[in-house]
Amino acid sequence: MGGDSYEAAIAGLKKLLSEEGLEETAAAKIGQITAELEAANPIRPLPSNAVEQILNGFHYFKTEKFDKNPDLYNALAVAQHPKFLVFACSDSRVSPSHVLDFQPGDAFMVRNIANLVPSYDKLRYSGTGACIEYAITSLNVTNILVMGHSRCGGIQGLMKLPPRPPINFVEEWVSIGIPARDKVIAEHSNLDFETQCYYCEKEAVNLSLTNLLSYPFVKDRVVNKTLTLFAGYYDFVNGKFDLWGLDVNLLPTISNRRNSLVGFSSGEKEGLEEAAAAKIEQITAELEAANGLPCDAIQ
Ligand SMILES: [Zn+2]
Repeated sequence: MGGDSYEAAIAGLKKLLSEEGLEETAAAKIGQITAELEAANPIRPLPSNAVEQILNGFHYFKTEKFDKNPDLYNALAVAQHPKFLVFACSDSRVSPSHVLDFQPGDAFMVRNIANLVPSYDKLRYSGTGACIEYAITSLNVTNILVMGHSRCGGIQGLMKLPPRPPINFVEEWVSIGIPARDKVIAEHSNLDFETQCYYCEKEAVNLSLTNLLSYPFVKDRVVNKTLTLFAGYYDFVNGKFDLWGLDVNLLPTISNRRNSLVGFSSGEKEGLEEAAAAKIEQITAELEAANGLPCDAIQ
């Protein structure tokens, strides 16, 4: 039905275009044909403002950036050599390209709910693992930045997680941050929910830096000082950005990580978590033996 109506509409348009002196009639007819097309098409057409936004956005990029920087884009067409792997939240307000003015080729990016990095796990989170692996072993990035932000809905979800196994994707995902949540609640139980979330937004970033160390190719390069881990926090309420480094004092203890297993019932997962926790303890010792941290707090 849709196809027939579409073909009929196109035929009508062609007929009108072949006639002369029918501008007004044609305009009315085109309006009618458009309405018929929309009625016949089972897929809702995109709102014109969305189409315009996309096309105008690309036109601006093409004319103001792409065409004016041929050296950059010709080089990027051959290969990318980003300095950074960046983890940022999917939140529409925190794009690192805008907040940190990263240019094309600067940063390999992973964006997810609450900018979380799960610990090394061969059975889960392969999408995240693949990004880390590719950025480190193929692109040879020399810096990883995990960037948290203010008023993060994902962190609020983490802080509100009920004491039962996750029942949807968001709960399952933000459960990665449970050790950070537990630390904040233990240390700041007297504070209001909003302030606890603020601390958890930062603590979850510290947890993610720790989890990064459970990836063998990350740990090796951090120990060899060819890779630096950064933590960032973008406060979009006050327009501020904090930057700090890995701090072993903030590494969660094994007991804290075991506490984080509340809600998980799979023995296999528990085994992996314990192995990851043991590995982190080993990593901590290696880091300290490697003459200090890759970077001190620099906020
Ligand atoms: Zn967020």
